[in-house]
Amino acid sequence: MRRHYSVLCVSLLLATSLFAQTKPAASVKEADIKTEMTALANDEMRGRGSMTEDEKRAGEYIASQFAKFHIAPAGDVVNGKKGYLEAVPVTKQEFAAPPILKVGSWTGTHGKEIAVLRAGGATMSGPLQVLKPGDNIQQGAVVYIHPSGGNPRAEMMQVLQNGAAGLIVADSDATRARFTRAAAQPPSLPVRIGSVQLTPSVSSPIAQEGGTEPAIIYLSEAATKDFDKLENGAKVELSGQIKTAVPGSTTNVIGVLEGSDAKLKKEVILLTAHMDHLGTDPKLSGDQIYNGADDDASGCTAVMEMARVLGAGPKPKRTVYFVTFGSEEKGGYGNQYFLQHPPVPLSGIVANLEFEMIGRADSAVKPDELWLTGYDRSNLGPELAKHGAKIVADPHPDQNFFMRSDNYALARKGIVAQTVSSFGLHKDYHQVSDELKTIDWDHMTQAIGSMVGPVEWLVNSDFKPTWNEGKKP
Ligand SMILES: [Zn+2]
Repeated sequence: MRRHYSVLCVSLLLATSLFAQTKPAASVKEADIKTEMTALANDEMRGRGSMTEDEKRAGEYIASQFAKFHIAPAGDVVNGKKGYLEAVPVTKQEFAAPPILKVGSWTGTHGKEIAVLRAGGATMSGPLQVLKPGDNIQQGAVVYIHPSGGNPRAEMMQVLQNGAAGLIVADSDATRARFTRAAAQPPSLPVRIGSVQLTPSVSSPIAQEGGTEPAIIYLSEAATKDFDKLENGAKVELSGQIKTAVPGSTTNVIGVLEGSDAKLKKEVILLTAHMDHLGTDPKLSGDQIYNGADDDASGCTAVMEMARVLGAGPKPKRTVYFVTFGSEEKGGYGNQYFLQHPPVPLSGIVANLEFEMIGRADSAVKPDELWLTGYDRSNLGPELAKHGAKIVADPHPDQNFFMRSDNYALARKGIVAQTVSSFGLHKDYHQVSDELKTIDWDHMTQAIGSMVGPVEWLVNSDFKPTWNEGKKP
């Protein structure tokens, strides 16, 4: 490996020396990457749980690196001084007791007969619609389905996107694990980020604005037998009491490198990653820390390394924002607040590259390749590739990765925003085993290094990426 790597290094050096005017004054080194990864993903960082002090400590570390790299602070003003950190107010809601589902004389309680994955509010009601193949969804109905095909998600989405007030899912081999998981947790309820209410989404882990997403309820095996006897039109009611809202906070880190060109400095390139992960779980025996080395200490390290190289080189013509978001894993709380309070008008952000899970190579592509989510949605990926990026189309389109990171919320606001990754669907995803020792340092160093030239081109060009026809989310 090492031998192979040094050969590669020499050829990269030769290649860059041909373009001496763009040669960076700093370069991407494995030792620096190891230092940054270790700072973020060691056990002391306790898994950088969303909305925790640990997440904030990760932010403070990233801020200290930005300061070293001559990146200016663009976060909150504290004691009259601009800092890198941005405190994001988050108000959470919780049920005071498990909510109850009633249909006629039948009653089920969350955690027992039913598992409420999420609720749009304290109560939900509507007439029961027992869905049969080919039926249209009745507006405002509580729709009961027996997922029959191999893909319950597709059948659920069909109900959730067509005006139902709620979705009740019968027990089956394909849904039993979901019932167990949802029954063991409190139901999720809309949260308030700044002034906007967000509902966790089913179509994407990135939450949606507005509080009207339908409730989702799974049934136990016994409850399914009871429901099978019910008829269309029966009145269904889910009710519970919501505790006083609990205020909390998450953290973003924002740094800026002001553009040098009088005209192009108004155009912003946004480089992002998420710094939070799943924290710790004291219920686990053995390892209790979700270190999140690949997810997404690796992406934060890419953002820091871009800051190192761009901060050391000649000033880019365009303005570059370096941002690490908090609480992506909870539904993108940090990015939502950023969109509500952008440091520049959103229309000035010409492109966003999010870096997610680049710590290991994906065997679905060539070893030195990265992929871009939603590659065919815009001309950004192909242009970066033309300028030397080893970027190809996402080889896992069925995973919907385009909708599964911070970039998605930005894309929905019109910004050409896509995620760079090499996640090969490894089994350590969202497990305590996503640790530093699983990182492929050669791959990660080469991956970040390979993006330097293309990003340098992007921040100095006047190329404005656009969505392809019909592909804007
Ligand atoms: Zn992630």
